[in-house]
Amino acid sequence: MKFAYEAFEELFPEKEMPNIEIKYSNRFSAYNANVKYKHGLKNELNFALSKNWRKVDDSIKKGLIQSLMIKIYRKQYSNLPRKTIYTDLYNNFTKNLHMSIEKTKAEPSLVESFQRVNQKYHSDSVEQPNLEWGEYSKRTLGTYNYQTDTIKISKYFENANQKFLDIVMHHEILHKRLKFKCNSSKTYHHSAEFKSLEKGFEEYEKVNKEMQNFIRYKRLPVASTQYIASHKNKELNNNKNLQKQFSLKKWLFG
Ligand SMILES: [Zn+2]
Repeated sequence: MKFAYEAFEELFPEKEMPNIEIKYSNRFSAYNANVKYKHGLKNELNFALSKNWRKVDDSIKKGLIQSLMIKIYRKQYSNLPRKTIYTDLYNNFTKNLHMSIEKTKAEPSLVESFQRVNQKYHSDSVEQPNLEWGEYSKRTLGTYNYQTDTIKISKYFENANQKFLDIVMHHEILHKRLKFKCNSSKTYHHSAEFKSLEKGFEEYEKVNKEMQNFIRYKRLPVASTQYIASHKNKELNNNKNLQKQFSLKKWLFG
């Protein structure tokens, strides 16, 4: 708990200390966290951290807390540093997390796609992450999640042309391979290097265009329609609750 007060004090030596609460929660995927805050007579910052943060060193947790504080306050305080030695520690910690994460999900057709693409375009250099199907989504074709070392691919690709699946897989593998680049204030996910490697995919422009067309006209399997409708409602409600809350979105790459 002391680390949270220190985190604040080092960023704001002159500012009044808010009420700070730290909770460890089961609600999150591994190493996720968020903060909710209230400004009032006495400001309140409520941090929720996934359970596995408990056993992590305080200096790394301090970096996590400072990263979230910087997100909250950076608009209000323009001279607030964008990074500290602790946020650097924390960023390095997250970059190496994938090594300690247990691999439990390996959807066979995704594993095949991963191995094809890893061999052809990445010299077999990328360690296999968890691989699973996501929701039926046309907007999010794939994601790579750092904390859980998981590539998820939209379920629309389940029985799709192999090339379409592979081009999405290639994009997500690049996220895992290149991680993120920090440039003091901005984090680049799709850097120039990323885009140029992405175009290394055989007949990239053509396959990408065909894949976009495929997804545009692809119909949802009938049995799933109802599920999606109820899921969408849930999503809307969740968005309402998300006001004044910052999560570690940067760990999730689309
Ligand atoms: Zn991306």
